[in-house]
Amino acid sequence: MNAGELTGQARTHVAEVPDPICVLHEHVVRPFLNLRKAALADGFDLSPVSSFREFDRQLNIWNGKFSGERPVLDASGQSIDVGPLSAPERVAAILQWSALPGASRHHWGTDLDLIDRNATPASYRPQLIPEEFAPTGPYARLGEWLDANAARFGFFRPYRGVLSGVRPEPWHYSFAPVAEKARGDLTPEVLRTALASAALLGKEQVLARLDELHARFVAGIDWP
Ligand SMILES: [Zn+2]
Repeated sequence: MNAGELTGQARTHVAEVPDPICVLHEHVVRPFLNLRKAALADGFDLSPVSSFREFDRQLNIWNGKFSGERPVLDASGQSIDVGPLSAPERVAAILQWSALPGASRHHWGTDLDLIDRNATPASYRPQLIPEEFAPTGPYARLGEWLDANAARFGFFRPYRGVLSGVRPEPWHYSFAPVAEKARGDLTPEVLRTALASAALLGKEQVLARLDELHARFVAGIDWP
């Protein structure tokens, strides 16, 4: 992937998948459909809630939180008022739950947030919170199935809460053969260049600690 693809500013690496509707790296479509087929055979309607995400979408989320237009949550999931916070404090608060634009693995088209549509009524809105994958949650059985089977298809969980700077995300799966190459290619310099020309709120604070943010949120993952 080139710099634009690694940071979600290009979509030359991704393909639109009609069923189930999602957008994936062209080399991830077949592996994902194979994973889904195996899941269906075992009774799970394995569906992506999120797949490829563009830089500009992540930028809108980031800026909305930085400016207080979107809710920002604290470590326990309670909404906090960013008004009194300094710029460095806002950056730290946003990073609790949101990726820095350019640094999301969803830019690569290799990563998906997965649920089981058979597990809930059609009207249920997935929240992607740990409780949904806990033993009493609707997606507990899917989580067990993925733990046992995803690796056979090349998928792994980069955010298990072991080494990664991101809190555990049992719904987030990544296709290792393509994603590991992207992780190596998305250097601090590639990320810095993407952010330098972006209308990012808090840009000065982000660029000042970019090497540390890259180490925590890009380089530092839980290994396949
Ligand atoms: Zn995700």
